[in-house]
Amino acid sequence: MSKIILTGDRPTGKLHVGHYVGSLRRRVELQDSGEYDKVFIMIADAQALTDNAEHPEKVRQNVVEVALDYMACGLDPEKSTLFIQSQIPQLCELSFYYMNLVTVSRLQRNPTVKSEIQMRKFESSIPVGFFTYPISQAADITAFQATTVPAGEDQMPMVEQTREIVHKFNAVYGDTLVEPKILLPDNQACLRLPGTDGKAKMSKSLGNCIYLSEEADEIKKKVMSMFTDPNHLRVEDPGSLEGNTVFTYLDAFCRKEHFGRYLPEYEDLDELKAHYQRGGLGDVKVKKFLNHVLQEELELIRARRKELQKDIPYIYEVLRRGSEEAEQVAAQTLDKVRDAMKINYFSDTELIQGQAEKFQ
Ligand code: ATP
Ligand code: MG
Repeated sequence: MSKIILTGDRPTGKLHVGHYVGSLRRRVELQDSGEYDKVFIMIADAQALTDNAEHPEKVRQNVVEVALDYMACGLDPEKSTLFIQSQIPQLCELSFYYMNLVTVSRLQRNPTVKSEIQMRKFESSIPVGFFTYPISQAADITAFQATTVPAGEDQMPMVEQTREIVHKFNAVYGDTLVEPKILLPDNQACLRLPGTDGKAKMSKSLGNCIYLSEEADEIKKKVMSMFTDPNHLRVEDPGSLEGNTVFTYLDAFCRKEHFGRYLPEYEDLDELKAHYQRGGLGDVKVKKFLNHVLQEELELIRARRKELQKDIPYIYEVLRRGSEEAEQVAAQTLDKVRDAMKINYFSDTELIQGQAEKFQ
């Protein structure tokens, strides 16, 4: 069976380091590994509109920002198909059919949707489109027969729900759809990178992000004001790693060779952590180290982005070509789905003949 990747991001803002460690970095590795037959990367503008219906311009402006971030990180249009969700009409049709296979109570139980509803303060005025976005996500994944979805931890319930829809569809209509698996980051800290404010998740909608395109002095400012251990007041006090954002970021970004370059008095992160816990290591020193590590990682991305920004029509051309290719693939899946669901009236000659005989 082919190995196919589908994943994506909502164009609700520029991409941040949470996206990078949660999904983007891995995607580039997978793209370059040669192990996958196809890699589809989707800019989920239609999904972004489910909770931004009144802000179409925001979504529109951010499509190109996300595409620039993708390519700056190393997603290569020669190897991956980069496309825009709304340009693939088949995704709407698939969602419409899948809606018959999911109950309202099952959607209400989806923990990510639950917490997002709370976060957005929708209370009882939840847009139907937002409430049902896990179904449209199932359409996105299955339209491309994806086997693998590299994503952060918050996407687990979505992929689980997709698997349920696939099971149900195949059980009712016959084997048609492919069951996908989520591919989570190996590194615990990358599953859900917290915000610079220490909040559970760095998220575009929460304004607690370090963006991939951020300038060096801005990154430094954000790192130096990052949340640490609020009880670690004096350098000599023992510090706690629990919920200490600076150490979580080091877990996500730092490699052994960084110590040689920026903090040679320590062998590795374990040694630095032990000193912090013992007492005698100040937050400022750890933050300065993190700043070096982040600057090193983001410098190249920022430089590539600046180059790409010089030719924006090319970026749109990449997305147009990608969308055309994606539509062809989705159309093939939709043909299969229509056959399986027996709504292929005009291409099924047996049906027409059988009906004709019935009425003789
Ligand atoms: P929004 O606030 O608009 O929902 P977001 O910042 O949550 O935006 P998404 O576009 O919803 O970003 O998520 C895109 C991908 O990035 C998903 O695979 C998601 O799991 C991953 N991701 C987002 N935030 C983080 C994070 N803080 N840590 C790890 N992965 C993340
Ligand atoms: Mg999100």
